[in-house]
Amino acid sequence: MINNAQSEMITERIKKIVRDVPDFPKKGIIFKDITPLLADNATFTETIKCMAAKYKGCGITKVLGIEARGFILAAPIAMELGAGIIPVRKKGKLPYKTISETYALEYGEDTLQMHEDAVRKGEKVLIVDDVLATGGTAKAVVALVEKLGGKVEGIAMLIELEFLNGRKKLAGHDVFSLIKY
Ligand code: AMP
Repeated sequence: MINNAQSEMITERIKKIVRDVPDFPKKGIIFKDITPLLADNATFTETIKCMAAKYKGCGITKVLGIEARGFILAAPIAMELGAGIIPVRKKGKLPYKTISETYALEYGEDTLQMHEDAVRKGEKVLIVDDVLATGGTAKAVVALVEKLGGKVEGIAMLIELEFLNGRKKLAGHDVFSLIKY
């Protein structure tokens, strides 16, 4: 088990390692670049253990990763929990029959897809991504899981941009983030 003091130490370390890239992908956005964290074996290993710890013993059987950086986090978290992995991808990337959810972006819209047999009725699913910003992406993914009768047991984010109020869109769900800005 990880206690509060250990968790605080790890979050401080992660904050120092995550790189801010201003004006990417467009002017005014500060992109949270996690690649330096991925390159640091010790800190990344602790990050995964911290994110997974909260969900041990919850009966989660699938960990869902959102394209693309969510995959990198979801896979080792699923290993820690002894669960399977579900990839949610942008439209047109998955090979088998899919279900879709379209959601609004600042300009226009986007569609996410999941295989129609990815979640069984009543199955407990943990949704994972790197950054919670406005919450639109995570909300669309919740809808995909619920369409198949799955239960969203938790939403785990490495980083939360609190000033964008993404949590509001996910009201009624258990949202956890390791580090907050
Ligand atoms: P949103 O739907 O606004 O919550 O955006 C979440 C998705 O966009 C996640 O998949 C993130 O990877 C990505 N994202 C949004 N804002 C940022 C940011 N400032 N830095 C890195 N990724 C971001």
